Amino acid sequence: MATPVAPGPATIRVRVPAKINLALGVGGVDADGYHRLTTVFQAVSLHDELTAQWDEPGLFSIAMSGEGTDLVAADDSNLAMRAARLVAERFGPESALGVRMTVKKSIPVAGGMAGGSADAAAALLACSVLWDLDADLEELRELGGELGADVPFSMLGGTAIGTGRGDELVPVLTRGAHHWVLAVADVGLSTPTVFRRFDELQPGGCDLAMPTELLNALASGDSVALGRHLHNDLAEAAIDLRPQLQQTLDAGLEFGALGAIVSGSGPTCAFLCRNEESAVALSVRLGAEGVARAVRRVRGPVPGARLIS
Ligand code: ATP
Repeated sequence: MATPVAPGPATIRVRVPAKINLALGVGGVDADGYHRLTTVFQAVSLHDELTAQWDEPGLFSIAMSGEGTDLVAADDSNLAMRAARLVAERFGPESALGVRMTVKKSIPVAGGMAGGSADAAAALLACSVLWDLDADLEELRELGGELGADVPFSMLGGTAIGTGRGDELVPVLTRGAHHWVLAVADVGLSTPTVFRRFDELQPGGCDLAMPTELLNALASGDSVALGRHLHNDLAEAAIDLRPQLQQTLDAGLEFGALGAIVSGSGPTCAFLCRNEESAVALSVRLGAEGVARAVRRVRGPVPGARLIS
């Protein structure tokens, strides 16, 4: 067997966060069949970790472990594999490059938290560093947009407003840290299925407007106002497909959350808490109530995909 050429460091490790949508406005469909969105993303402290090592030229592989990975194919359809191949093809020569990747997943699969996009973002960054390619972050973010609308945000992180398909990003000013409790459901929801139901319930889409009150609440660090202005146009469709979500949202509010929202296309629900203590109390109550498979406490905003030593 030929020995792989490995000009760079042996192993590259990247940590990449999940996202929640603090606001998700869904409009009509554009000429290419994509819904127009106005969304406010926040990256939160629930991370997948990807490692990349050189392999023989032309060999690309991935192994996954952790949360829900029995549901994800470890083949060329995997978003991290597609990202590795795309970066090799654009900045290659592809035939001279190879990579062996591992992903430790903590982001729930099909949970509305952009787990697949996160792994794609991590693979873009890890492979470009591993192969010592001449690609800057801006170019990688653009490449990410070809893989999925959420990939550019997974690279950027923080809090940002996304327009177009959600991939035209502008960072948003925020003050302070936000404490969230996530209720993770047993079984995921398929994003295309939720959008199809949305189209049936809301033909032509909703009116898209800038979520000004929410942006003001973020800028001033007013968690009470932020909780009041969380909004998701996909919530109705997600709840219609999974009525249990309404009970989960109601339970969180009853137990003291400042606001409750379905994350993206669901089924993960996110609850905003006043501070860390309230988040601990809420996670204990929700856990005891058994309204979700798992309850996680996270903070936001956090940075996007980053190299770790
Ligand atoms: P989004 O919120 O971005 O629409 P999601 O968070 O609801 O997506 P993902 O976890 O990204 O959902 O998974 C969506 C689909 O993508 C799954 O059905 C899964 O099989 C597929 N997929 C491909 N690669 C991956 C990956 N690396 N991790 C998770 N899912 C992946």
